Amino acid sequence: MLGSPGVVVMRRQRAHRESARRHRGNHRGPAQGAGRRLLAKCFGLGLSLSVVTTSVRTAVAGETYLELRRLALAWGMTIPTHTKDLVLLKSSWTTLEFVPQTRQLRLNGTLIWLNDTVSDVKGQWCINAVDRSRTIEPILAPSRHLAGMPGPPVLLDPGHGGEDVGAPSRTGDWEKDLTLALARRVRIHLANAGVRAVLTRDDDRTLSLETRVQMIRRTRAGVFVSLHFNTAPSPSVYGVETFALTPQGYSSTAGGDSPSRRSLWCSGNRFDAANVVLAYRIQRSLRLWLGNDHDRGVRRARFQVLRDATCPAVLVEAGFLSHTPTARRLASAEYVDVLAQRIAAGIVEYVHAVEAARTSSTAVPAKR
Ligand SMILES: [Zn+2]
Repeated sequence: MLGSPGVVVMRRQRAHRESARRHRGNHRGPAQGAGRRLLAKCFGLGLSLSVVTTSVRTAVAGETYLELRRLALAWGMTIPTHTKDLVLLKSSWTTLEFVPQTRQLRLNGTLIWLNDTVSDVKGQWCINAVDRSRTIEPILAPSRHLAGMPGPPVLLDPGHGGEDVGAPSRTGDWEKDLTLALARRVRIHLANAGVRAVLTRDDDRTLSLETRVQMIRRTRAGVFVSLHFNTAPSPSVYGVETFALTPQGYSSTAGGDSPSRRSLWCSGNRFDAANVVLAYRIQRSLRLWLGNDHDRGVRRARFQVLRDATCPAVLVEAGFLSHTPTARRLASAEYVDVLAQRIAAGIVEYVHAVEAARTSSTAVPAKR
């Protein structure tokens, strides 16, 4: 149905109802917008992505949903597979696998939890506009979203410390000691790549969450990475996950946000686009090393250090201490060193993307 509007405006509660109205007039379709396309260099993905610059208006107290087939056109991708279990968008370099009726997307193989469900609206699979603007396009075309973001030093935040021991490991270690060991190794690998890093704590001391965030200003840090390890009631749960702040108005991945919590505007929301790029780069780096089965994805949460951060910030849960094989590996300095190297590699990619965005924003945009 080429030529029909690609934007559907509706209340979130009615996401699955047939009664949703198609919203005309505010959206310039891909064909109309073609003349306004800019070539955006996509860092790390090795492609030049054509991005439609047309804006989309969101209805008051409503949600804007975008048809995936329309987005595929805008992104220069095709939809070779479209079933009830999977909507696959593909270009030469990029694969987007959306799982209908869930919040799951695999972007070039890395799991990303969307801010809203992939929904069926009048027979078309749609995503919320927030996931176009605050999730997918920043990752695919970072140069358009990272210009003006600060660079190093990187502030590494080893979780817990002092009286706050964190989670216990199956091998008898404490999370606070493992996070410090990891942060020190990440700092070394960043230094090897020419990226300066400082730590919120370099010894075993109690540090409030407020103090950790205040250190962003004190150290003039442009990147904040909090390092933690996970624990779960079930000893069989394993894997790594990277958290970025939930955009205003949306539910965190774990759910349970009250309406007032969802509507809260946080300092960290100024960096929504950069937060998700940083999270994606780290999570991707870890997945490529550990394998897909360890990939618990880029997730959203309103952790205090992410809410109050005054620069782009993420929180990495670098393994489950309640999972015996993981706990055993973390007892080895060699394993911790490779883990640190992979986290550092993701941070370095992000820092380079910020530098590239700075350079390209001063250049004359390419037209076609
Ligand atoms: Zn922790």
